Amino acid sequence: MPDELLERLRKFQTDYFPAHRDEFQSLINKGQHPKTLFLGCSDSRIVPYLLTGTGPGDLFILRNVGAIVPPYDGSYGIHGTAAGIEFAVLQLKVDRIVICGHSHCGAVKSAYEGVPDNAINLRAWLSLIDEALLPVCQTNEALRKVEQRSIVLQLERLMNYPMVRAAVEDKKLTLHGWYYVIEDGEVQVFDVEKGQFVAAHIADNCGTGPYIKHDDCGCNYL
Ligand SMILES: [Zn+2]
Repeated sequence: MPDELLERLRKFQTDYFPAHRDEFQSLINKGQHPKTLFLGCSDSRIVPYLLTGTGPGDLFILRNVGAIVPPYDGSYGIHGTAAGIEFAVLQLKVDRIVICGHSHCGAVKSAYEGVPDNAINLRAWLSLIDEALLPVCQTNEALRKVEQRSIVLQLERLMNYPMVRAAVEDKKLTLHGWYYVIEDGEVQVFDVEKGQFVAAHIADNCGTGPYIKHDDCGCNYL
């Protein structure tokens, strides 16, 4: 019985690769210089390259259940996402970080409904979005709201990473919160000034962030 996944691997090398060989070779010769760290939920329906029209070498991608940024202080253990953020900012020197959540997120649903008893890591991980949960009935509307609140929470958490904060303050790095509405094929970007998500087709930019408290003027953004 043919293994479909194996067939796909072979197809990549025989069908796709020959036409793009030079592009891949160039990415080896010159190295990778992605400008964007895309930190998205692991959900199979998010396809970063499709959403952004990008290809090899364009995005440095980190994905996890819920598009969660773990606390910088390591209080939830050593995590690959934290290491990836440091790598992207300090070594690759990306100039954008996108946090991409989405509608119908299983992580948010599980945060309300619970997880199997033996999913000890998942339970601990999902507690990282507790702050975004609303004490309301689990309606579709409430879930959509919590999915968006979680994205904003992760943006705030990113700012606790000293190298992220420093790069943002130096205006070398911009943080974007994206909410992908799967059923509409639409990404909504978080506008910190408006305090809400705005559909990409009417937005002025890819989303503004982060929150920086200016002691002198009291404003919340750069
Ligand atoms: Zn998700």
